[in-house]
Amino acid sequence: MTTHLRFDVQLNPQARSAAEREQVLASPGFGQVFTDHMVSIDWTEGEGWHDAKLQPYGPLVLDPATSVFHYAQELFEGLKAYRQPNGSIVAFRPYANAARFNRSALRMAMPELPEEAFVESLELLVQTDRDWVPTAEGHSLYLRPFMIATQPALGVNHPSRSYKYMVIASPAASYFTGGLKPVSVWLSTEYTRAAPGGTGFAKCGGNYAAAFVAQRQAVEEGCDQVVWLDAFEHRWVEEMGGMNLFFVFGDRLVTPALTGTLLPGITRDSILSLAAELGYTAEEGKISIEEWQAGCESGELTEVFACGTAAVVTPVGSVKGVDRSWTVGDGTPGPVTMKIREELVGIQYGSRPDAHHWIHKIC
Ligand SMILES: *Cc1c(COP(=O)(O)O)cnc(C)c1O
Repeated sequence: MTTHLRFDVQLNPQARSAAEREQVLASPGFGQVFTDHMVSIDWTEGEGWHDAKLQPYGPLVLDPATSVFHYAQELFEGLKAYRQPNGSIVAFRPYANAARFNRSALRMAMPELPEEAFVESLELLVQTDRDWVPTAEGHSLYLRPFMIATQPALGVNHPSRSYKYMVIASPAASYFTGGLKPVSVWLSTEYTRAAPGGTGFAKCGGNYAAAFVAQRQAVEEGCDQVVWLDAFEHRWVEEMGGMNLFFVFGDRLVTPALTGTLLPGITRDSILSLAAELGYTAEEGKISIEEWQAGCESGELTEVFACGTAAVVTPVGSVKGVDRSWTVGDGTPGPVTMKIREELVGIQYGSRPDAHHWIHKIC
């Protein structure tokens, strides 16, 4: 195992000018424009992790037989760097992303990256491209670490014998455009995202590849997002698109338990910890679509929200399935959703105390 990686630094001679950068930062969108640099670290069976470098952002040259193109041995992470009121830059719980990256790696038969190297790679990229971290309210620099299988071979009797880990970064406005509008969701009974023993808990691209058709169906049904149900009964709620879900019963919060088919969100985990301080109870449990509908109709289930790094906390306003549809509360963002969102955003942007030591200063 690698003890310490030294990053070779090659700065970009064609880095964009301050004026070009400011133009992008005025309206960054999400995941469309990337900063001037990227990080890469290679792994081979003999050498382990080596050839760590920061280099100009740019295309990769890969043999067409490279195994990631054929067998999707790939995984990724997503987190953000936030500008603080004093101008410094922080990340939110990056070691939690490092740990999840390695849990995903084990499931995908890929090598683990030492957590220190993962965090160091983020720090190096953010420090180098620090001027790309937006100062506008609610904006951030989205960081995308990922790993691909690079062996140019089509044999399927063993996993790839070489890998490339990379980090790229993209300035981001809020994820869903148009402010904090409650989303409408489609209950997918035709498709499943994950089954027991599968890769549901791993943040791998393959989960997304298999999900696009259901997301497209949701849009065809007039909804914003797909809600995933369990693989056997198509009854138990798991997640919404790429976000976890919380159900609010007055001051009691319930989120689907991590059965192995759900992605263990770091935002989800943070809300489970924060709830008590805000005067709520929070628990992991099981919610069926019948309970969801009945709870909304009786008024017992007052709010539903989705959570994840990209969109933080997003209210769910209405639900549609093949043979039913209903609204959540009065269809507008509820007070518990808003309070949790404000608290989390406040910690990330440095306007609320960080009692849990989640903030990791980068520069
Ligand atoms: C990344 C992701 C989440 C949210 O995880 P966070 O760590 O909170 O960003 C939820 N569901 C899926 C499927 C994801 O890929």
